Amino acid sequence: MAYATINPFTNEQIRIYPNSTDAEVDTALDQAHAAFLSWRGTSFAQRAQVMQKAADILRRDIEKYAEILTREMGKLISEAKAETELSAAIFEYYAKNAESLLQPQDLPVASRDEGRAKIVFQPLGILLAVEPWNFPYYQVARIIAPQLSAGNTVVLKHASNVPQSAAAMDQLMIEAGLPKGGFRNLYPTHDQVARIVADHRVRGVALTGSEGAGAKIAAAAGSALKKSTMELGGSDAFIVLEDADLEKTIKWAVFGRHWNAGQVCVSAKRLIVVDQVYDRFVQGYRDGVAKLKMGDPMDPATTLAPLSSQGAVDNLKKQVEGAIAGGAKAEEIPLPMPNTGAFFRPVILSDIAEDNPARREEFFGPVTLLFRAKNEEDAINIANDSPYGLGGSVFTKDEARGEAVAAKIETGMVYVNHPTMVKADLPFGGVLRSGYGRELIGLGIKEFVNAKLIDVVDIDAPF
Ligand code: NAP
Repeated sequence: MAYATINPFTNEQIRIYPNSTDAEVDTALDQAHAAFLSWRGTSFAQRAQVMQKAADILRRDIEKYAEILTREMGKLISEAKAETELSAAIFEYYAKNAESLLQPQDLPVASRDEGRAKIVFQPLGILLAVEPWNFPYYQVARIIAPQLSAGNTVVLKHASNVPQSAAAMDQLMIEAGLPKGGFRNLYPTHDQVARIVADHRVRGVALTGSEGAGAKIAAAAGSALKKSTMELGGSDAFIVLEDADLEKTIKWAVFGRHWNAGQVCVSAKRLIVVDQVYDRFVQGYRDGVAKLKMGDPMDPATTLAPLSSQGAVDNLKKQVEGAIAGGAKAEEIPLPMPNTGAFFRPVILSDIAEDNPARREEFFGPVTLLFRAKNEEDAINIANDSPYGLGGSVFTKDEARGEAVAAKIETGMVYVNHPTMVKADLPFGGVLRSGYGRELIGLGIKEFVNAKLIDVVDIDAPF
């Protein structure tokens, strides 16, 4: 496994990064531990200064940071700028809120004999962050902004195809004034990752990625008795009820399935449309997808980016072939495609039978799974017929109805009348095979702290 930057638009290999040596891994852990011992004693105000500086630098140098994303994993330059801004917003959120989120909590006790009891939130130590390539800054910010603010230190293992983005985050935190060792990017092998998880100074692991990687790292953390959070794949339902504003819903569906070239854990991967409006919706959706424009992701006119790598294209093609072999109908939307680059023409899959394995797979790219539902109840049943439980959405003009449907969908996040609201001040995470734990807001910052009880008791209190 080599770390390398290959521009997905040109297929040009820009640079290979050698794996970290064992000595580099050891040094990083030594420094992260030493940094923790002093960082945990710093004030929230000091940490907030570093977080705010990181936000300011990202905003100041947004063009530079965004270009790295676009050249390294192919996302549209407008989306790369939005990701950089979102990452800045996350740093800023914790600069402003970490202290209040981690305020000690007095406990209401039944009797004075129990003492003056409170919970204090203390950092644990070094955390390992294992992150995916689809949002190379945002995913890292989701962990380091809260956890550095809480007083932990972090070692990063980023995906092997985004080494420059990983290095950019490393540099960002140095420039923001984080003490040496507080956050450190490595280029470790999978074996070295296992060694890092097992190191006694590492107190937790946060992984965002596929089910396969999640299962391995969660097992490694479990066998070392360490806390982990898992942000894994998804196959989000996008439910369209008969009273939805169809024109606007179609626009959101096209966007929801194709932003970031469809490579989003919370993409609208399964469109579930009630019978009454199915035909009209599908016609509008097909027309909307046909208006997308593939091309250079640096060109503002491009609306459908290449996938992150040729390997991703090959895997997705195989998955579509599998779906067809299982009996699904596939319609390729004949968009003009550049001659080079990891492009994938959008495909709409329908007639996906109950026993077609594709029905329960995650398609990580511009492939739409389309379902006709008899009615609202049937739509909910189809939505819940998934091993995943990440996000989802429901479109209806009746907000109360939307909320009631949202309550019946078995996922960690549901949006009414929006494909996905990804913000610094909303939590993120799933259930079932989409993983466990939450990132962002107070839920995220408390994943890796010791919620310690301190109880001051009268020495004469009864037992
Ligand atoms: P991936 O292949 O699982 O990789 C994720 C990270 O795990 C990478 O850094 C990868 O490193 C590492 N990794 C994989 N196997 C490992 C092992 N045995 N030991 C140590 N590290 C290992 O996933 P991906 O293809 O990059 O990302 C796509 C997946 O992430 C999708 O399923 C998507 O839905 C999910 N995702 C979830 C969320 C969420 O918040 N729930 C957000 C974004 C993406 P290498 O590159 O070196 O293999």
